[in-house]
Amino acid sequence: MDLGSLAPLGAVSTVIAVVALVALVAVLVLLHRERAQRRRASGLLTTAQELRRRYDALQSVTREGVLVQSTSGHVLDLSERAAEILGLDRQAAVGRRVADLPLVLVDERGLATSAALALGPRPADDDPRVVGVVPPGPGARPRLVQVATLPLPEAEGAPSAVLTTLVDVTLRREVEAALSRSETQFRVAMENAPIGMALVDLDWRVAEANVALAELLGTHAAALRGYRVDELTAPEDRAAQRLQLDRLLSGEQHRFSLEMRCRRADGQLVWVVLDAALVRAPDGRPDRVVVQVRDATESRLQAEMLTHRAMHDPLTGLANRTLLQEVLQAALEQPGALHRTAVLACDLDGFKEVNDRYGHAAGDALLVHVAGVLRAATGSSGTVARLGGDEFVVVVQDEDAAKAVFDVANQIHGGLREPVRLGRRRTRVAASVGVALADASLVEGGAPTLLAAADAALYRAKGAGRGRTEVYDPSMGLSTATTTHRELVRAVEEDQLVVHYQPIVDLSDGHVVGYEALVRWQHPHRGLLLPGAFLPHAQEAGVSVALAQLVATRVVEFLARTGDDGRWVSVNVSADQLGDGELATRLLAELSRHRVAPGRLVLELTESSLVAAGTRIRHELTQLSAAGVPILLDDFGTGVSPLSYLRDLPVAGVKLDMSFTSGIPHDPTAGRVVRALGALARELAMVTIAEGIEHEEQAVHLRRSGWRYGQGWLYGAAQPQD
Ligand code: C2E
Ligand code: MG
Ligand code: MG
Repeated sequence: MDLGSLAPLGAVSTVIAVVALVALVAVLVLLHRERAQRRRASGLLTTAQELRRRYDALQSVTREGVLVQSTSGHVLDLSERAAEILGLDRQAAVGRRVADLPLVLVDERGLATSAALALGPRPADDDPRVVGVVPPGPGARPRLVQVATLPLPEAEGAPSAVLTTLVDVTLRREVEAALSRSETQFRVAMENAPIGMALVDLDWRVAEANVALAELLGTHAAALRGYRVDELTAPEDRAAQRLQLDRLLSGEQHRFSLEMRCRRADGQLVWVVLDAALVRAPDGRPDRVVVQVRDATESRLQAEMLTHRAMHDPLTGLANRTLLQEVLQAALEQPGALHRTAVLACDLDGFKEVNDRYGHAAGDALLVHVAGVLRAATGSSGTVARLGGDEFVVVVQDEDAAKAVFDVANQIHGGLREPVRLGRRRTRVAASVGVALADASLVEGGAPTLLAAADAALYRAKGAGRGRTEVYDPSMGLSTATTTHRELVRAVEEDQLVVHYQPIVDLSDGHVVGYEALVRWQHPHRGLLLPGAFLPHAQEAGVSVALAQLVATRVVEFLARTGDDGRWVSVNVSADQLGDGELATRLLAELSRHRVAPGRLVLELTESSLVAAGTRIRHELTQLSAAGVPILLDDFGTGVSPLSYLRDLPVAGVKLDMSFTSGIPHDPTAGRVVRALGALARELAMVTIAEGIEHEEQAVHLRRSGWRYGQGWLYGAAQPQD
């Protein structure tokens, strides 16, 4: 073999081998590259799918809708929310030109605008704008949509698409509009309010004030702006205001009301009532205070007058009992009250005679004169009060009260020695004085005890003769019961007891057949008192019989005056008023003196008062009954053994207790008792009267149960004789 011919052959094969190798490598590289590209493409696809999922998820939760359009104005994509806001079908919209979308859009002025213009990019306008969308179809609500556009840049910088975001602001706009409406309404209301109003910031500074407030303070509304409310307030009232404001701002209260004085621009003070209410921001923090201010000058004056009237005796201008008790209590609460306080009670001797002889006007003039004497005697060392009638009290407050109170007492006696001119006459009065010095035991009981002590001393002074002064000592006794007793004695002596009359009717036709006399006490300070308030004290006070005689005398006088019209008057009598024959004797004497037939006067006795009735009472009742005075058993049905009284006493009739009447018609037991008692009384041929009839149906029921007469508010309450 020729090596020479062989050499080119080897080179060729080498070349072929190299080329083959290169080709192989190239193929391998290409293969590798392609695989890498495929991997990358599939990675990109996964990433894109992932991004799409996230994008869709994001779109589903955001309130914003998104519309992507190409620069040529075709819809590339549209989120569900955007489709919903625009009222479009999402699938149908993608690919269409924005300008061709089935949309009615209006601009903020309500003018129709093209979709391309409204939703597309606008040169030099990156502010969001609001367009109105009128969705197709009847009944759909137009909405307001806030639109913003953003060109999406590509890598090279040229925009490839435009992103439009859409936010439905319908609700927000409505709320804003409502707020602004109520703000306007508030402002109009405030400006025109007839009372002063201001908006005040949390520094208590006036932000806005209305005309009424400015007028109240004598200035212009604008001038008030910036002033702190406490600068407009009288210094004395600032602390109270501060306190209330702090409580308002700390949330302890939502509003407060304060009566206070404001300083007007001219320097004058004016009483106002300030009402403040806290307004909070939506997050709950205090925002500002709405203040209303009304002029309280008049009501304040009236209140002051009322307070004065409530605290003073209108005749003499002296303090009254209420004020006196306050003054005394305050004095006793001062340190060192023991030596510095004394009470002097003073009562005119023979005042009743002056009244009776010269008339009430003269009596009043005398009281005014005496008030002057007491004032002069007391000077600045105490307070003078009139408790009513001719009762006066002085609370003496002095470093040496024991000495001062006797000085006052002596000056009172001295001052009264001067004759008084009453009309054309000159007369002289004297007063009895009781003094109580505040000692430890009296002070412990407070003002009422010290007053009662002075009263006890006065009582002793009166007993001892005219124009005397007595000092309280514990032997005089102090209980409130004794005070009531003394008052009752006085009431009988001074004619403070009055008789009222309640009609008694025939239940068959309602005509008045008689009256029941019921006693009342016209108490000088406590007003008109009913028997329950004082009768229980009458026996202990020793006035039972005197009281019964007084009532009986009044009633006989009443009967004499009215003439015999067939009507009777019943008088209540209790067992303690009977027994010694005095009442029977007096009654019969009065009847014959006034020539009144005994049958026109009827006595009522309660079962309970007869429990202990002895033979003397029975004798007295028999005496009266025999003389022709009928006797009725009162409160019938409440006693233990009514039958025994019916048997033992000369009883002409019964009065059914009102507790049975009040049970009618609902309480069946009451109904049965009413029927049974009625039958019993009729069986015994007794007069039957039912008490306490308040309703027509009770009257009907009683009449059907056989009760003949009736009495109660249905026919009239007890009234004075006129
Ligand atoms: P009484 O004799 O049973 O008098 C009837 C009481 O019932 C009276 O009360 C009368 O005002 C009251 N009353 C009358 N109609 C009605 C009514 O329709 N509904 C109600 N709920 N109440 C009515 P008053 O005046 O408070 O007298 C209470 C008691 O005091 C009398 O009860 C009588 O027992 C006694 N009393 C009254 N005056 C005298 C008197 O001069 N001497 C004596 N010893 N006792 C008297
Ligand atoms: Mg009675
Ligand atoms: Mg009765």
